[in-house]
Amino acid sequence: MARLYYDADATLDFLRNQKLAIVGYGSQGHAHALNLKDSGLDVAVALYEGSPSRAKATAAGLPVLSVSEAAKTADLLMILLPDEVQRQVYAEQIAPYLRPNQVLAFAHGFNIHFAQVVPPQDVDVIMVAPKGPGHLVRRTYEQGQGVPALFAIFQDASGHARDRAMAYAKGIGATRAGILETSFREETETDLFGEQVVLCGGLSALIKAGFETLVEAGYQPELAYFECLHEVKLIVDLVVEGGLANMRYSISNTAEYGDYTRGPRIVNDATRAEMRKILSEIQSGQFAREFVLENQAGKPGFTAMRRQEAEHPIEAVGKDLRAMFSWLKKIEA
Ligand code: NAD
Ligand code: MG
Ligand code: MG
Repeated sequence: MARLYYDADATLDFLRNQKLAIVGYGSQGHAHALNLKDSGLDVAVALYEGSPSRAKATAAGLPVLSVSEAAKTADLLMILLPDEVQRQVYAEQIAPYLRPNQVLAFAHGFNIHFAQVVPPQDVDVIMVAPKGPGHLVRRTYEQGQGVPALFAIFQDASGHARDRAMAYAKGIGATRAGILETSFREETETDLFGEQVVLCGGLSALIKAGFETLVEAGYQPELAYFECLHEVKLIVDLVVEGGLANMRYSISNTAEYGDYTRGPRIVNDATRAEMRKILSEIQSGQFAREFVLENQAGKPGFTAMRRQEAEHPIEAVGKDLRAMFSWLKKIEA
C-alpha cells in the first residue's frame, strides 16, 4: 500500500510568514483561499481586471490583487485558472515578475507536464490536487474534515518544496483526509484517463446510450430517465460508501445476477481496447495537443458539441422531472 500522510506528518510552519496568492476564484480557488485563511495563513486572491469574482472575494474578507501584483509580491502562487488559460496568463502576467525561491503551485499537472508553462529553474514547482470539486473542499473543511489530495514536486529549487506542498495540503484541510504523493506525469495521465473513460466521458455515454435504446424501443422517456440517469446516484452512493460488494448487497438478487452476467458484455474486449487507445493518446500528448489547438482556434468544436449535447432529449425530460421532484419536496416539507 502506498503511504498516506495525515495532519501529524505536515506542519504549517513552512508557509507561515509567507504571502500566499490564489490566482482565480472559481470552484477550487474560492475553497483554497477560504480554507487557507481559516487555517491562519496570509492569503490574497489574484484576479484579472473586471473579474466578476472580485466582489465575492472581497465580501469573504480576502484581499484582491491583480495577477501581476501577486506575481511580484507573493511567496507562493497557486494557479487555479481554467487549464486552457494558464499558458497565456502565466506568460503575460506571471513569468516576467518571478523571483528566485518563489513557489508556483498547481492543482492539476496538465500545463507543466505538457510544457504549456515552463517555469525558470530557480522557483519551486509543486502540485496539490484535491480529489473532489471545490465546493466539497470548502464544505468538508468547515465540518472539520477534508477532501483527500495528491501532491507532487516537479522542481525543488529551495530544498523545501516537499515541506511546502505538504504544508499547503494541510492548510486546505487535505491532510485531515490523507494525502498521497505522486508525480506531475502520473497525476496528469490518470486524471485525464479517469475523466475521459470512467467519470465523465464513459458515464455520460453509458447513460445516453441506455436512455436512447429504451426510447427507440418505444418506452416512455420519463421511465428511461429514471432507470438510466436518476438511479445512478443511488447506486454510486452505495459503491462509494462500501465498494461494489456493498452495492450488490443492497440491490435485488435479480439485479445482482444481471450485473454479473450482462455487465461484461457492455464493457467488453472492444471497450477495453478503446480504453488502452485513449490512454496512449493521453500518454503521447495527442489529447493535450488537440485540446490546446482547439482552444487556440477559439473552441469551434467544443462550442458546437456543448450546444448539441445540451439539446439531447434526455436534458428536456430531466428538466421537467426534476422540477416535479422539487415541487413534491415542498409539499412534503
Ligand atoms: P473554474 O473554471 O471554476 O475557475 C477558474 C477561475 O479563473 C474563475 O474565477 C474565472 O473567473 C477565472 N478566469 C477565467 N479565465 C481567466 C483569465 N483569462 N484570466 C484570469 N482569470 C480567469 O476552474 P476550476 O475548476 O477551479 O479549475 C482550476 C484548476 O483546478 C484547474 O487546473 C483544474 O484542473 C484543477 N482542478 C479542478 C477540480 C474541480 O473539481 N473543479 C478538481 C481538482 C483540480
Ligand atoms: Mg481533471
Ligand atoms: Mg430497477
